[in-house]
Amino acid sequence: MKIDLKSFAPLLLLLLLFSFSSCSKADPRFEQALGTICYVDLYNQGTEAIYDEIFARIDQLNTEFSLNKAESDLFNINHFASHEKVFVGNDVFKVLETAQKIAALTDGAFDVSIEPLVSLWHVNSPSPHVASQSEIDDLLPLVDYKNIELNPEEKSVRLLKPGMQLDFGGIAKGYVADEVAKICKKHKIRRAVIDLGGNVYVYGKKAKNALWNVGVKNPEFPDVSAPLLKISIPQMAVVTSGMYERFFEEGEKRYHHILSPKDGYPIENELASVTVISENSMLADALTTAFFVLGKQASLALMPRIEQNFREDFYVIFIEKNRTVSFSPNFPFEYKILYENWSSL
Ligand code: ADP
Ligand code: MG
Repeated sequence: MKIDLKSFAPLLLLLLLFSFSSCSKADPRFEQALGTICYVDLYNQGTEAIYDEIFARIDQLNTEFSLNKAESDLFNINHFASHEKVFVGNDVFKVLETAQKIAALTDGAFDVSIEPLVSLWHVNSPSPHVASQSEIDDLLPLVDYKNIELNPEEKSVRLLKPGMQLDFGGIAKGYVADEVAKICKKHKIRRAVIDLGGNVYVYGKKAKNALWNVGVKNPEFPDVSAPLLKISIPQMAVVTSGMYERFFEEGEKRYHHILSPKDGYPIENELASVTVISENSMLADALTTAFFVLGKQASLALMPRIEQNFREDFYVIFIEKNRTVSFSPNFPFEYKILYENWSSL
C-alpha cells in the first residue's frame, strides 16, 4: 500500500505542535498552600507537565498535613488517636519519626504536640488571643512528645492523653521542599529555586557552576527587599525562623508564633531569628524552630549530637536582637552583611 504523505501533513503538523507545546518552557509557578505562597522556578527546563506534577504533590501534602480537612491523616490523629490506633500514610509517618527524633535530641524544645497551645494563642489567625496563665496551665500537661507513640511496623500513631493534638507548622514546609527537590532530581532538572514562604531550597547548579546567592532577612525590616546578609552556597536548603514572621501586638507587646513547650508562652530570648542551612530541608526546618526555642548557647552545645545522629552536616546563623550576627563553628560559606549598623561575631 502506498501512503500519501500529503494527506498526513495536517496531522503531523498538529502532533509536532502538541509535542512542542508540552515540552516548551513554562513560566515559574506559585500557589497558596501550607499557609503561605509556594513558588517554584525550574528555569529553562520547566514544562507545564513538570510544574503540574510538582504542584499536585504540594497539594497532596497540603491536604495530608491539614488540621481541618476531614480526610487528612493529621485530622484523624487529632480526633481519634487518643482512643484508638490511627494508621497513617508514609508522608505523615516520616515527618513524625523525624519530629520525634528532634524532640528527643532537643529535650522537647521542638514538640509537635504543641497544637493545643497554638490554637489557644491563635497567632496565625485574624483573631489572636493573649492567653491567660490559667488557660495555659490547663493545656500545658497535654504538650509532651513522649506521649506520642509510633509503631513503625504498621505505621500507626497513638496519643496517650485525651485532648492531645499535633501541629506540623514547624516542620511541614521543610518536608515538602525535600519532596519537590526529589521531583526535580527525577526529571534531571539542572537548576531550580523552591521557595515555600521563606523555606528556600536552591537546587542544582547555577550557570557556569556559580554558587547561589541567598539573602537572610533583616528582622528589623522583614518586608523590604534588601536582606541583612547574603550567603553564597551550593545546592542547599536555607530555612529561617524569626519572631517577625507571624505575630500580633497588644498593648506595647508583641506575641509571635514560636512557643515554649515548657511554659506555653512565645519565646523571649536574645534571638531575633535563626537560619539553618542543610541539604536536608526537613531537618533544617525543625531545627530552626528548636534552636529559636533553645537560644544560641544551648543550640551550639547540641549541634554535634544532632549532626552525629542525623549523619548530616548543617550550618547555623544566629541573628540577635542586639544587632549581632554569629555563625556555627567552621561556617564554610562566604557571606556579606549589608547593613552598616550590624556586626558579626
Ligand atoms: P514558620 O512557620 O514561620 O516557617 P517555624 O518553622 O519556626 O516558622 O514554625 C513555627 C510554627 O511551628 C508555629 O506557627 C506553630 O505552628 C509551630 N510551633 C510553634 N512552637 C513550636 C515548638 N516549640 N515546637 C514545634 N512546633 C512549634
Ligand atoms: Mg521550622
